[in-house]
Amino acid sequence: MSHFPSALDQAHMSTSRGRGIRFAGVSKDFTAGNGARTSAVRQVNLEIAEQQFVALIGPSGCGKSTLLRLADGLLEPDTGRVEIGNAPPRPGPATGMVFQNFRLIPWRSIAGNVGFALEGLGLDTAELNQRVQAQLDQVGLAQWASHYPAQLSGGMRQRVALARALIGRPSVLLMDEPFASLDAQTRELMQDDLLALWERQHSTVLFVTHSVDEALLLADRVIVMGRGDVLEDLPIDLPRPRRSTDVRRDAEYGRLREYLWSRIRDLVLADPASAFFGRHAQAEKKRG
Ligand code: ADP
Ligand code: MG
Repeated sequence: MSHFPSALDQAHMSTSRGRGIRFAGVSKDFTAGNGARTSAVRQVNLEIAEQQFVALIGPSGCGKSTLLRLADGLLEPDTGRVEIGNAPPRPGPATGMVFQNFRLIPWRSIAGNVGFALEGLGLDTAELNQRVQAQLDQVGLAQWASHYPAQLSGGMRQRVALARALIGRPSVLLMDEPFASLDAQTRELMQDDLLALWERQHSTVLFVTHSVDEALLLADRVIVMGRGDVLEDLPIDLPRPRRSTDVRRDAEYGRLREYLWSRIRDLVLADPASAFFGRHAQAEKKRG
């Protein structure tokens, strides 16, 4: 292997060292088909330091995915500024995206899906293949390179999506409920794998989840959103390296879990769009 930096490494040297994420006075509205306006994100100020792992949690429709799409540069804010490493966000291999529904290309092999992000960067075929194999190896899918997405289980497909996001050695990783469609065991294994990978690579991560447990296990900091606003910004000082089984035994974990869950429960009960809206008030009345 060559000891000269490849085109990709050079691109990284100039673009992806030390990239934090900054939202300054960011708002985003949407207009529905019937003309109704929704403030998906309202005047959000948020500063995420480089290499920090931040979990974003809150009821459905509170603006989590919108905030993520603003950070990957696919969506423009109406007001305010989004910056990644002091520059406007730009889609590319230095920012990795992982979604709940995997979004793999069905007619491409696993290797083809993972290598996709590097195409057009001017790597020669041998180097590209070698990078793809190394990345597949890292997520435990080396033997599956020539298979197709439909031949893999959900957990394996999500692993492919993760490999595809990581192959550009991203300094920023944006994950939108990546494990939400996996069964409980697979999810827990993926969480531990993600922690192990992150401990090696230390990208800056913005991770959307519905799960309080997942947020506490993974993150340095949990942001709670409600209806477009940041309502809570909670540091999680649980020791690292973390593994799911150890973290749950920590007394601080129990305390944080109770606090966060009560916050989110109140938000859901107070949300007119939720099936649970008003339950709290009814229960109080009965007791009253
Ligand atoms: P979350 O990810 O927290 O569930 P979203 O960011 O997807 O929430 O959505 C926030 C709000 O913006 C919701 O009310 C949603 O219906 C609305 N919204 C999101 N994207 C669009 C869009 N492309 N067009 C219209 N409304 C949208
Ligand atoms: Mg969402």
